[in-house]
Amino acid sequence: MVEAYGVEKGPEKKSNKGFFSLVIILLLLASSTWGLALNANWRQVLYAPFKEASLPSPVETDKEASLPSPVEIEEEAFLPSPIEIEEVYKSPDELTITYFDVGQGLAHLIQIPSGKVIIYDAGEGTDPDHKYTKYRNAGAKAILPVLRGEHIKKIDVIVGSHPHSDHLGGFLFILSSDEFEVGEILDPGMVHSTPTYNAFLELIEKKEMPYRIVRDGDILDWGSDVFVQVLSPPKGELWDHANENSVTIKLVYGKTSFLFTGDIEKRAINRLIDVYGPQIKADVVQVPHHGSNTSNDRDFIGLVGAAHAVTSGTGGEPFGHPTPETCRRWREVGAQMHQTHLDGNITIMSDGKNISVRTMR
Ligand SMILES: [Zn+2]
Repeated sequence: MVEAYGVEKGPEKKSNKGFFSLVIILLLLASSTWGLALNANWRQVLYAPFKEASLPSPVETDKEASLPSPVEIEEEAFLPSPIEIEEVYKSPDELTITYFDVGQGLAHLIQIPSGKVIIYDAGEGTDPDHKYTKYRNAGAKAILPVLRGEHIKKIDVIVGSHPHSDHLGGFLFILSSDEFEVGEILDPGMVHSTPTYNAFLELIEKKEMPYRIVRDGDILDWGSDVFVQVLSPPKGELWDHANENSVTIKLVYGKTSFLFTGDIEKRAINRLIDVYGPQIKADVVQVPHHGSNTSNDRDFIGLVGAAHAVTSGTGGEPFGHPTPETCRRWREVGAQMHQTHLDGNITIMSDGKNISVRTMR
């Protein structure tokens, strides 16, 4: 039946086509005869639009004032439904940094007002290189709920300060998850063969993620509204001890500045003092090495002179970090102490002039 229907309808269409073709030919003949009768100027007017249409110059395109601007087109064409609006990540109005409570470890979410999202360290993983069993799986337990709450789908930059599992372990979960797109991964490029670091590098390779080694002097593009510079480790030879090679970053937003230090210890700190001196001054500091005494000497504290000092540790087992002595030294220079083991997640915001602090507890 279907075949018969097709056969019957076929000739009717053909005859229609033939009729229309004849009309078009007649019209073309008439118009060309008319065209020949016109003088040269008229022909130019008639054919000029066809010539221009094939290759419009950028200036002519700009002159079309009646066209809506690209922004207007986008808003009209891609206006999301209310449900989609909920799912689209909106950058915060202020620079927002979350210092996660990950027990013995370190993890930060940095949200730049112009939109970029950075995670600097991600706490301990499920299978720590050292068995601090109490603080496992920071990626899923501490970071994931905040990423979901903030509707973050893309992490522009991941910074692994140094190859220890209490800093990198949580990244294994985040990098394994298909929930997040990752822009690039930065670390100091230290050869280190612990299971966590090997797994970290294997994931990067397997998922073909852009990986970059960053060192002193490198300027990081985290958006035009912030200035971000790596201060340590040095470009040349690294230290033997992984902690010392932590990627140390100064982030400036307006008149406010933030220092991320990972687990730097005495040698890296002395070099920072020698090379940068008062330039390491910052309003907010991630207290080095979870607040150990040796990483927080008075020369360093005096130069940084932070108004807000944030520690990430347990205050007790296994290392007693942050130490009461470290907290005392920071308070001596006028710093307000914020401690993840007491405050829970700590969120510090800056509008470029003023800094505000919000804590979970
Ligand atoms: Zn550490």
